[in-house]
Amino acid sequence: MKILFASSEIFPFAKTGGLGDVGSALPKALNQEKKIKTLSIMPLYRSIDRQKYAIEPLNYHFTKTLCGIVHPFELYHSKYDENIVFVYNETLCDREAFYGDKSGDYADNALRFGLFCYAIAEYLAREKFDILHLNDWQSGLAANIVKKIYGIEIKTVFTIHNLAYQGIFTKQTMTDLELNWDDFTFLGYEFYDAVNFLKAGIAFSDAVTTVSPTYAREIATAEHGYLLDYFINSNQDKIHGILNGIDVDYFNPAHDSSLSKPYDVTSMDKKESNKKALLKATGLKGEEKAIFSFVGRLVEQKGVDMLLRALVHLKDMNANFILLGSGETWLEETLSAMECENIYVKIGYDEDFSKHIYAGSDFLMMPSVYEPCGLNQMIALKYGTLPIVRETGGLKDSVVDFHD
Ligand code: ADP
Repeated sequence: MKILFASSEIFPFAKTGGLGDVGSALPKALNQEKKIKTLSIMPLYRSIDRQKYAIEPLNYHFTKTLCGIVHPFELYHSKYDENIVFVYNETLCDREAFYGDKSGDYADNALRFGLFCYAIAEYLAREKFDILHLNDWQSGLAANIVKKIYGIEIKTVFTIHNLAYQGIFTKQTMTDLELNWDDFTFLGYEFYDAVNFLKAGIAFSDAVTTVSPTYAREIATAEHGYLLDYFINSNQDKIHGILNGIDVDYFNPAHDSSLSKPYDVTSMDKKESNKKALLKATGLKGEEKAIFSFVGRLVEQKGVDMLLRALVHLKDMNANFILLGSGETWLEETLSAMECENIYVKIGYDEDFSKHIYAGSDFLMMPSVYEPCGLNQMIALKYGTLPIVRETGGLKDSVVDFHD
């Protein structure tokens, strides 16, 4: 069985969070099954280091004309991972960041990711696959484009990694992307008189998955449904919750070259060395003190405001706290201002440092308001660090309460 896995993020080429991790871990896991062959497709963003990953052109070109404008595409591959096809189109890829900058999302994201979906369709018009697996709003339109506009016979699966990010654009998008106005209805693209890419992914796919069983139930409620709960409910028969996993070859303290001393469950004393190294790197004092940590996006979803209230008390406690993250400016500034002798804050994205934190900490905090799945708690568990989580979504499905 041949699967085309489409994602706007695949680690290590592009990652802003869990989508990037799963974008590499899931196809890799599927490819370990004998009868499955998964090929992934993603944009070749400007930030991807072509030299480092030996990315080369496949001499495979096509174009898509929309409203009289010809959009050229070129495909690439990498010797680093032969199971990925990279799509290059200037409008889609030639940007500083993937989705936007400090002033907000890029204004032409509808066109950019619409073009990504057309590239998926053009590729499928030339190559035979049995299943198309789409992920999040960035590839949501492809479900309709592939089947209805291109008439390609294929089964489609759409995965919701986070219902809060829907890709909502004005209805002019229907014309700009030459979508079928017949499908601009309550059952299709239409969402409060605008176009909703994620809703389209749900509407036009044969099956829909989300990243944990509890989140599958939560998104059908007004509290977590982000105004789509009615629609989730009316599509209930095709929605399934399947818990994410992590790549335990990559997130593995026994083979993690970024750690000062690798360790596993039989050599947990070496975790102490990682704790010492973490204290040294952060300038915090006190090997006997517990280290509590947080790694993640600094947004309301992650319960950062709850953390802020707790940190006020931590200042006076016999414990250390380390935070790594980036996100909303006010949270970045407030947290940075809280640095003191037992609180260390690093604003930014740092893959290696995140692994030092998982290895050297005693506890990882995840007070998320909601959490579709969450991977940090799984990484923490693999690194022998106790996750302290709020009972929601995938946190509920992957962390066993100590009372139990
Ligand atoms: P999200 O909601 O962001 O997708 P997940 O828990 O599913 O959250 O996945 C988060 C992933 O991103 C984990 O691999 C985590 O270690 C990583 N991550 C998040 N923020 C940072 C950061 N600032 N630096 C390094 N890694 C980060």
